[in-house]
Amino acid sequence: IVSLSGVGKKFESGTVALSDVDLCVARGEFLSLLGPSGCGKSTVLRLIAGLDRPTTGRIAWGGERRPRDIGFVFQEPTLMPWARVYDNVWLPLRLKGMSAREAEPRIVEALESVGLQDFHRAYPRELSGGMKMRVSIARALATDPTVLLMDEPFAALDEITRFKLNDDLLRLWKERGWTIIFVTHSVFESVYLSTRIAVMTSRPGRIAEEIAIDEPSPRSPNFRMSAHYADFA
Ligand code: ATP
Ligand code: MG
Repeated sequence: IVSLSGVGKKFESGTVALSDVDLCVARGEFLSLLGPSGCGKSTVLRLIAGLDRPTTGRIAWGGERRPRDIGFVFQEPTLMPWARVYDNVWLPLRLKGMSAREAEPRIVEALESVGLQDFHRAYPRELSGGMKMRVSIARALATDPTVLLMDEPFAALDEITRFKLNDDLLRLWKERGWTIIFVTHSVFESVYLSTRIAVMTSRPGRIAEEIAIDEPSPRSPNFRMSAHYADFA
């Protein structure tokens, strides 16, 4: 669904962020990009999203020349502070030309799936960091993207919220058949969530190894833990 061949990225500053990255992501995969800070993970996501262009090599989106139907969850929740939760989730749908009526069930469902059904009318400043991140995720989910790109979405959260969101994400991925490319620097999280891990190293950023995981499933302490917190939002 996305393939990178021989992709390199050199910034104007002279920094070579990526060198010779080959990566092929199939439909329905849950791929983790795992690596230390500065190895080029965000750069890979930005290139896949079409927000930036590679200096060398090629990217193909399922035979298309440009990306379509991509959802992006940025590392920092980027919510509009003046708009309520509901309107924040509505915005991308509105930009796609969807009417308020058409959008409503999608927004309601997306907020429900991240446990924020009671917070439609709240403003971002009234939410905790974890809840803001959930709104960002709901906003990406509402568009029902073919490919969901997530850049360390849970890095700033406490472990319990993170466990819960890990399991929620796994459930949604299974239900919806999305393709997910998930950036993390947590080995545990990558093993827990993904069907495949691309291990990146730095200077220059490249993929050192790919590791296939049999079946991502709630099988570790995460799942048992999160059962105790089923009700929290
Ligand atoms: P982190 O885990 O800290 O988010 P990362 O793996 O996402 O790191 P990138 O943000 O992709 O790393 O950056 C890779 C390299 O490219 C770094 O050396 C960084 O300094 C450099 N870089 C990133 N964006 C730019 C830019 N716009 N201009 C110049 N250099 C950049
Ligand atoms: Mg990054």
